[in-house]
Amino acid sequence: MGGVAPRTRSKRSNTSTGLGAEPGKAERARALRLLAALDRAYPDAHCELNYSSPHELLIATILSAQTTDVNVNKATPALFARFPTPADYARATPAEIEPYVRSLGFFRNKARAVHESMQAIVERHGGEVPRTMEELLRLRGVARKTANVVLGNAFGVNEGVVVDTHVERLSRRMGLAGPKDSVAAIERRLMVLFPRARWCDLSHLLIFHGRRACKARGATCEHPICAEFGVACENRSPAKVEARRGQKSARAASGAKKPGKTRRGAT
Ligand code: SF4
Repeated sequence: MGGVAPRTRSKRSNTSTGLGAEPGKAERARALRLLAALDRAYPDAHCELNYSSPHELLIATILSAQTTDVNVNKATPALFARFPTPADYARATPAEIEPYVRSLGFFRNKARAVHESMQAIVERHGGEVPRTMEELLRLRGVARKTANVVLGNAFGVNEGVVVDTHVERLSRRMGLAGPKDSVAAIERRLMVLFPRARWCDLSHLLIFHGRRACKARGATCEHPICAEFGVACENRSPAKVEARRGQKSARAASGAKKPGKTRRGAT
């Protein structure tokens, strides 16, 4: 059960959606089993950015570029308190926003993106965050990933799949996408493999798995989900896993304890 299914694809192209070749039955079935396993492992998977309105989520997502959600969540309470509505950001200058986002890196660009996106929301959308991909992509600082976050989490609209660094890495490792697929190709692949109603959940599940389970490159990792699905991850390369098992059984046979780190000065 559950080994890496060959990425067989029928030759029939998905002309109705423009999403590329249809996955084979086995590939789709494997994707659904993986989704169910992730659901069981992370039943509370959710967006980890703190927000209380669509415009706050949009701003938090813009600010999350090149930094962590934890860092963003530390900065946004003061920012959201100082600028409660899109009109407040629109009235302010980027320089007035900068001190609140300075800790997040690229703060000048981010302050400008926040100011200009909120200005556009006030001028073109009556102060409400738009609910379509097309309109969101016209806002400064908003690309597909940010638009998908806002549509999926603030409005419950599954227009695409958020492909962040975790989703990108895991899609490749889990055999959902090819090793050289671009972010855009990965998103298209996930969209044809998984049911539309679950696209937003899927990104949360993969991000939770990436943040909570994945080990740094070079570590040995045998996570049960990855073992069940035969995930092609270099951290569970057969040679490494075998070498570790060999060391364990040799220790068990000799009754020796696992070697600890040598203390400085110890002989
Ligand atoms: S085996 Fe470990 S490191 Fe590799 S994808 Fe799975 S959880 Fe991440």
